[in-house]
Amino acid sequence: MEALIAGAGPAGTHLAIRLARSGWRVTLVDPLPEPSRNAYSSGALPLQDANRLRIPDACRSAHWWGWQLLNPAGVEHQWWSDDPLGVVLDFAALRTWLWDEAVRAGVELLAGQRVRLLRLDTDTAAVRIHTNGESSEERVYPHLVDATGARRVLLHQAGLDVDSPADPLLTGEGSEWVLQGNDRTTERWRDRLSFMLGRQWIPHGYGWVFPMQHHQLKVGVCRLAPPAGSRASLNTALKRLLKRCGLDELPVIDRHGGIVSSTVNRREALGSGVLRAVGDSASTANLLGGEGIRHAMDSADVLAQCLLSGATLQDYQLSLNRRFNWRWSLSNRLARKTWWGLNTESGDQRIARLIDGLSGQASAEDLSELLFDYRFERYGLRLLPYLR
Ligand SMILES: Cc1cc2nc3c(=O)[nH]c(=O)nc-3n(C[C@H](O)[C@H](O)[C@H](O)COP(=O)(O)OP(=O)(O)OC[C@H]3O[C@@H](n4cnc5c(N)ncnc54)[C@H](O)[C@@H]3O)c2cc1C
Repeated sequence: MEALIAGAGPAGTHLAIRLARSGWRVTLVDPLPEPSRNAYSSGALPLQDANRLRIPDACRSAHWWGWQLLNPAGVEHQWWSDDPLGVVLDFAALRTWLWDEAVRAGVELLAGQRVRLLRLDTDTAAVRIHTNGESSEERVYPHLVDATGARRVLLHQAGLDVDSPADPLLTGEGSEWVLQGNDRTTERWRDRLSFMLGRQWIPHGYGWVFPMQHHQLKVGVCRLAPPAGSRASLNTALKRLLKRCGLDELPVIDRHGGIVSSTVNRREALGSGVLRAVGDSASTANLLGGEGIRHAMDSADVLAQCLLSGATLQDYQLSLNRRFNWRWSLSNRLARKTWWGLNTESGDQRIARLIDGLSGQASAEDLSELLFDYRFERYGLRLLPYLR
């Protein structure tokens, strides 16, 4: 069997490796000339998922043991565990490792090139692969995968409706800078994930500071605004956050950003004919914490299984919805409610109360369960009015 995968992020590359190891001939294409370019993702991951996905130590920039939330007034709340709870990945190193593994597995990796869909039939797809504006000959494949992330390039080119009124696409935009600190300037941010919540930090979103090795810090802001919400400059909010945190004098060694988007119920078509979407293209990113690396890789496992067993598109869609079940959907509903509402005095008061409540009742492990495992049971019926 043969497949073309457009997009060599975590989803596309993990899928390529799985299929190649099962004996498929796989071509993987990405416009990035090198895997280290545009390392746009903050890379926070629970430790158990990093271990489960066998992400090597070389990709793990730092571990974290605790959570630190700064409320709208800037008051710090902390939760600590005796054991490491997670890692902050070096996203460039993660992509490099995945690309190397793909090549070792026999994948044909075409870097610095992009895929354009020409025709989609029931049993084949015709594409062109472009290099710097020059296009190669037409190629025809029996399987085509859109792993182009939140932009869903091939789904759009196939004319599929990914943003329907019944289950609209929610899009968050993020901007992140990497700062070079030292022993003294990074002390307040080490060993923990820090988040800033409230409209004085950024309306309709949150800020963060994540630790990395060599006293570097990833500092960013993300906004998930309703359709008519604020579109003020993200970088202005980021500079304000840096100043408020006393980090504005540190040298900036990288600037990047991107979008993260998903529907709440994944009702959109995840393909047509021989085209399938995977990872962010298939709405697997979760918007509560703006994270999707482990979900992208898990969805690649689901798709690999479906392709290898000859499952239909409908079967794939069902399998994906079983893997990303009601918990995942509920957390996206919570994300919409939380981030859309966070631009008023009452929104600030609600988030401050939530942080106070968590401070009194929850452990660091509870917070991880809530934000990464979407275990909302203990908050039970109290969530229902919040979701209305
Ligand atoms: C600011 C920010 C911070 C984030 N922080 C975290 C975090 O802390 N933890 C976490 O788990 N997740 C985080 N995420 C989300 C996470 O990065 C994504 O969910 C994950 O990278 C999705 O993987 P993917 O392979 O589906 O897509 P991507 O990683 O987006 O890969 C898509 C690839 O497709 C390529 N491509 C585009 N067009 C074409 C084309 N025409 N042909 C071929 N290839 C093409 C792109 O170059 C890209 O390499 C963050 C996202 C943002 C924006």
